[in-house]
Amino acid sequence: MRVNTLKRAAVAFALALPAAAVATVVAAPAAHADGCYTWKRNLYQGRSGDDVRQLQIRVAGWAGNRDIVENDGRYGPKTAAAVKRFQSAYGLRADGVAGPQTYGKLYDLQDNDCTPRHFSFNEMDDGCGRGGWSGGPLSPAQTRQNALRTMWKLEAMRRSLGDRPLYVSSGFRSRTCNSQVGGASDSQHLYGNAADLTSRTSSLCQLARDARSRGFSGIYGPGYPDHDDHVHVDSRRENDRDDTPNTTSWSAPDCGIGAGND
Ligand SMILES: [Zn+2]
Repeated sequence: MRVNTLKRAAVAFALALPAAAVATVVAAPAAHADGCYTWKRNLYQGRSGDDVRQLQIRVAGWAGNRDIVENDGRYGPKTAAAVKRFQSAYGLRADGVAGPQTYGKLYDLQDNDCTPRHFSFNEMDDGCGRGGWSGGPLSPAQTRQNALRTMWKLEAMRRSLGDRPLYVSSGFRSRTCNSQVGGASDSQHLYGNAADLTSRTSSLCQLARDARSRGFSGIYGPGYPDHDDHVHVDSRRENDRDDTPNTTSWSAPDCGIGAGND
């Protein structure tokens, strides 16, 4: 009986040691009430769950050149690399661990409806002015969720290009709207997965070049037919509901961006 107790105590002590060591390196997140989403634990490589998925949505724009951060809820090397780039971009310690500092910046950036600070559902909704996220191939909720993910990539792009406004001239389009404006039949705009961009401070080529490292797998800009007055960005690689292959498709010949010329 007594021996057993001692043994148990020894085991408990041995188990407590590594946990204590980890705790000194990775402090628990401070209590915080956020209108959109609050993380309850630190996240790093090896962790998984919905909290990782929520994080992946918000760092997807820091994917790195020609890459994407899968929204799979698993904190792998790509998520860690994206978190590091996010941390560097905002002047935080770049350790690839999502803890109080990283969450604090994300709380600071996200509005209560979960959109990033500088973009809104309103400006991403039906480009023909009807609104409501309906009339596309997906449910309004799915379409809206795609638009949210697009906006977080745009927020990263805005930061990367010096914190100057980016303008969305067309986001989601219903089927009716898409044919009205002459969009491609399987356009990513139908899914809430695309944005047409302009800027007053960056050239269209600067936008197109930067988009390559913001998790956008579809980019069309200057030199591509009908894209001399805006840059189109989309996330076709992540769209499993369309008829378009899940591959990268870039073309902005006037900017030196094209098939086989990245
Ligand atoms: Zn477009």
